[in-house]
Amino acid sequence: MLLVCLLFYFKKKEVLKMVIVMRPDASEEQLKEVVSKIEELGYKPHVIYGATRNVIGAIGDERGKFVLQSLEVMDGVEAVIPILKPYKLASREVKKEKTLIKVGDISIGGEEFTVIAGPCAIENEEQIIKTALAVKSAGAHILRGGAYKPRTSPYAFQGLGEEGLKLLKKAGDEAKMPIVTEVVNPEHVTLVSEYVDILQIGTRNSQNFELLKRVGQTDKPVILKRGMSMTIKEWLMSAEYILSEGNMNVILCERGIRTFETATRNTLDLSAIPVLNEETHLPVIVDPSHATGYAKYVSSMAVASVAAGADGLMIEVHPQPEKAFSDGPQSLNFDAFAKVMRKIKTLLEVRKTI
Ligand code: PEP
Ligand code: MN
Repeated sequence: MLLVCLLFYFKKKEVLKMVIVMRPDASEEQLKEVVSKIEELGYKPHVIYGATRNVIGAIGDERGKFVLQSLEVMDGVEAVIPILKPYKLASREVKKEKTLIKVGDISIGGEEFTVIAGPCAIENEEQIIKTALAVKSAGAHILRGGAYKPRTSPYAFQGLGEEGLKLLKKAGDEAKMPIVTEVVNPEHVTLVSEYVDILQIGTRNSQNFELLKRVGQTDKPVILKRGMSMTIKEWLMSAEYILSEGNMNVILCERGIRTFETATRNTLDLSAIPVLNEETHLPVIVDPSHATGYAKYVSSMAVASVAAGADGLMIEVHPQPEKAFSDGPQSLNFDAFAKVMRKIKTLLEVRKTI
């Protein structure tokens, strides 16, 4: 019986084993031929379209992977490379150039730096619309706001649910900004996707594999926050869950990790930025609000993130932080946010020159 179970397990286990790199001048026809050959050999092809060349991941089990090497002689194929990293589609081995994620007119991961701002939770229409207009005029690109809040206490404000999604959408339309909100339940993914441009997976759900798989089946970009006790490798494996379902638009968000330090809410792992930039082609943003837990430290960590090479920031902003339903102590008021934006702008000019 045990043997039958083991055989079944190994039969079911699918691992991306090889990546087929097409030549820059390979035609669409040649790509299609390679794709059908991969299928013929019993592997699942996964095409990744790049700016200069396309690559195809071949997903399948261990046995017979060497037959894939035979693809090397096909027209349009430059190389067949085994993937050594445990995370495959997220790895720079598969895709050398950085992934650019388009959301309306905004691109995340390219030359432009992206700022996402808004309250921790959507509380009412006035709060979210006022915030949307204020952050937009200060230069933010994307509006955030939580409708489903994963709170430590079941007695704390849990968010407005669908009503919150409606208000967020209204605010995004008024300020002409794309919107992002957190999704906490696989059953909510369809509903939330109807309202928002980007889905967020929070730190507490970053290893909720059913949720990761479900968002991987949508066509919405996903901001994947780092779990508070997650290694970079585990984080990339979570990203892999989304990518392997076919959704290549994942943005990684460093939001601080739990350490022995209690002076700040979490410890911002700034060194994750250069590590990720080396390991993965996915864009990397930083959330200095949850990382520090105090509004007074947000500015320094925002600036440090720019200097360390982040592609963007996510910052909590509230019209009256002292009255916020959640995360007030770490939320910036409108003036403080505008000040941070001015600092970032100056630093970005310098960053371009170094
Ligand atoms: C949030 O963005 O409001 C949030 C709950 O963040 P995290 O999952 O990083 O705690
Ligand atoms: Mn929050």
